[in-house]
Amino acid sequence: MPLSIKGYLETSFSDWDGLVSAVVFLPGCNWRCYFCHNHSLVFEPEIYPDIPPQTVLDSLRKHRKWIDGLCVGGGEPTLSPGLLPFLREVKDSGFKVKLDTNASQPRVIEELIGLGLVDYLAIDIKAPLTDKAYSAICRKQIKVGAICESLSIIKKAYREKRVDYELRTTLAPPYFSGEAIVSICEKISGAPRYVLQQFDPHNLREEENKKERQPYQRDEIEAWARRAREYIGNVSIREV
Ligand code: SF4
Repeated sequence: MPLSIKGYLETSFSDWDGLVSAVVFLPGCNWRCYFCHNHSLVFEPEIYPDIPPQTVLDSLRKHRKWIDGLCVGGGEPTLSPGLLPFLREVKDSGFKVKLDTNASQPRVIEELIGLGLVDYLAIDIKAPLTDKAYSAICRKQIKVGAICESLSIIKKAYREKRVDYELRTTLAPPYFSGEAIVSICEKISGAPRYVLQQFDPHNLREEENKKERQPYQRDEIEAWARRAREYIGNVSIREV
C-alpha cells in the first residue's frame, strides 16, 4: 500500500537542529491529545489531498545540494502503512531521516532502527510514565508499557551509536508541576537531550475550554528545567 502523505514542506531550517531538512506530514493517530499540534491531520485527514510519495522523492533528489534529510511527522507516522518502503527509498537516495513519534509502536521503531532507516528520533513524553497520567492527557486508555519498551529500544540503539534522539514534553496545563517533571526525568535519565516545550493555547480545538488552558509562566518552566538538569545534562526550553 503506498504511503499517504498529506503535507510536504520543501525546506525547513527549524525542524532538525543543525540540518536543512524537508518535512512530510502523515495522517491519523491512535491518541487524541487535547493540545494536538496538528489536530486536523488527526481528526479529519480527508480534508487534505494526498501527495504522491514519488513527488516527494523527486523533489528531495532535485534539491539534494542543500537538503540534508527528511523529517517524518504527523499525526503518528509509525501507524502509516507504506512507511518502511518509502523510508528505504529516502535512505537509498542518500538522505538522513528524522522520525517524530509518540513511541506507542515499539515493534515498528525496532524494525526501522534495525533496518537502518532512521537516524534521529524525536519522542514526545506526554506525561509522567503512568497509565493514568498518559490516559488523562492523551484521552485514550493508554498502557505505558509499550512506550517504555520503545524508549529501551532507542536507548540501546543510541548506546550502540546507531541512532541519536531527543525527548520532549509539551507542558500541557493543568497537568504539570516540578514533581511531574522529576517523575519523567527519573525514567529518562541518560537521554542526550530533553526539551520542555511551551504549550500553545492558540491551536486548541474549538470544544476545549481555552480559559482553563493558560500556559505556564516562563519562570516556572525555568525552575522545572533546573530540576530536570539534575538528571539530564542537556535540557532546553522551546517557545512556540
Ligand atoms: S500523539 Fe501527537 S499527533 Fe497524536 S494526538 Fe497526540 S499530539 Fe496529536
